[in-house]
Amino acid sequence: MSDPVGRPVRDIVIIGGGTAGWMAAAALAHRFGGTETSITLVESAEIGIVGVGEATLPQIRYFNRSLGIDEREMMARTSATIKLGIEFCDWGKAGDRYTHPFGAYGETIGPADFHHYWVRQNTGGDAHDFGEYCYPIVAARNDRFALPDEDPASPLDAFSYAFQFDASLYGVFLSDFAKQKGAKRVEGKVVSVQTDGETGFVAGIALESGREIAGDLFVDCSGFRGLLIEQELETGYEDWSEYLPCNRAYAVPCAITDTVGPYTRATARKGGWQWRIPLQHRIGNGHVYCDRYISDQEALDQLMTTLEGEPLADPKQLFFKTGKRRKLWNRNVVAIGLSGGFLEPLESTSIDLIQSGIVNLLALFPERDCDAADRDEYNRLMDLEFERVRDFLMLHYVATQRDDAALWRDMRNMEWPDSLKYKIDAFRRRGIVPEYTHGLFLPPSWLSVFIGQNIVPEAYDPRVDLMSEQELAANLERVRSRIAAAVVQTSRHDDFLENYGATFAGESAS
Ligand SMILES: Cc1cc2nc3c(=O)[nH]c(=O)nc-3n(C[C@H](O)[C@H](O)[C@H](O)COP(=O)(O)OP(=O)(O)OC[C@H]3O[C@@H](n4cnc5c(N)ncnc54)[C@H](O)[C@@H]3O)c2cc1C
Repeated sequence: MSDPVGRPVRDIVIIGGGTAGWMAAAALAHRFGGTETSITLVESAEIGIVGVGEATLPQIRYFNRSLGIDEREMMARTSATIKLGIEFCDWGKAGDRYTHPFGAYGETIGPADFHHYWVRQNTGGDAHDFGEYCYPIVAARNDRFALPDEDPASPLDAFSYAFQFDASLYGVFLSDFAKQKGAKRVEGKVVSVQTDGETGFVAGIALESGREIAGDLFVDCSGFRGLLIEQELETGYEDWSEYLPCNRAYAVPCAITDTVGPYTRATARKGGWQWRIPLQHRIGNGHVYCDRYISDQEALDQLMTTLEGEPLADPKQLFFKTGKRRKLWNRNVVAIGLSGGFLEPLESTSIDLIQSGIVNLLALFPERDCDAADRDEYNRLMDLEFERVRDFLMLHYVATQRDDAALWRDMRNMEWPDSLKYKIDAFRRRGIVPEYTHGLFLPPSWLSVFIGQNIVPEAYDPRVDLMSEQELAANLERVRSRIAAAVVQTSRHDDFLENYGATFAGESAS
């Protein structure tokens, strides 16, 4: 192989046409369409895709926007609903209910952060539910949604939203987009991989049909199997099952029987938890569990007996091991999606991790030699992303008072990673949420779980005491009633869908 240093990547090969593959193809085609750089995506209809993954995070809107995708068209083509957050049921104790919103709590009422004022009021036993001070939570509880207001003075400006959609349709939508921008799709099963004897770089792949495809840079989106990153390059896997033991899931869609709210629900169960994700035409349901704590049959029965409508397909069982590859970028292979790692879908983070993988790859886009410094930086950034998501997911399990089943007792008593311990201690002792600049989940997210799962700070910001008791009560009440009044004025989620996403197809047809 001649020296590849300083030579631009000309042929990018993506293995896999699931959500990860088509998101990568769309973004790369958007960047390189019309240039000399080719993008080829190989997928096998016979192998298929994992086909779950319906709840997203608000960041996906920026991904779509960066590609110039019309949100209304995307919503219409993917049967999407709006997601304002996740409602968690029975996590702290049986009967508890709180929402992790996509937005901030309260507003500025003094020099300290809003939640410190609420903590003081709550210490006196006089506070309303913390969620009542957050517009997207109150809107979600009342099945309401309107687009955020651009006016920073409005309570409707301090929130964001995401989508609940049919992930397979999102893949089809993006594949149309990527192909229009010049990406090529090749149907076929990869049966062998050629590597360069000197560098160990992947040089090409061969399909069952005998066709060979050479490339400079390979994006491994082949799902859990990790065709290039693991089966070929033997990169290794960091197993995080000791922190997050759930390892299986059943998924099944059911019919809609009532109004669908603009939020996902996650209900804690004996050996794991159950999701409910409403789309326009059906509800996605699943039970994530650990086979050490309940049997497959028990998990399946739990799911099927709690469906709110008639099942629309046979339940599908999925197996996974929580963790990530030791390196997400190894030699000239970048693993994006399930091939790079998996953290259970409790906070809908997988598609967001795909997005981060793509954004970081574009930011550090290499020459053919895939400089080690770029690879190291990419791996450092992605490690942070994965670790921060892991800690946030763990918080839901360890901050529990449940004592009714072995899973919850074990999680309460487990050893926490230092990074998580620091966060929990800081909140418990001083009511503060240390911020980081890189990675998912801003302080309002952490706050929602801390407070929602009954972690009570021992102290609050002393500047709160500069406010008299009467002033404090009046300020909090003003914020609460302003939000309640704004929600009453907000359109119903169903009406919003009818007027926004759901009508796009009709409009383009007329
Ligand atoms: C139970 C569960 C629930 C989830 N819920 C959510 C959620 O709510 N939100 C969220 O963000 N994420 C969720 N996820 C994750 C989400 O499903 C995935 O991140 C997403 O589907 C991306 O998958 P993928 O594209 O990496 O892999 P896959 O969908 O498995 O695609 C792999 C692709 O590789 C191809 N392939 C494999 N081997 C070969 C070969 N030899 N030759 C040719 N092609 C090959 C396949 O044909 C396929 O096209 C969930 C995951 C699970 C398991």
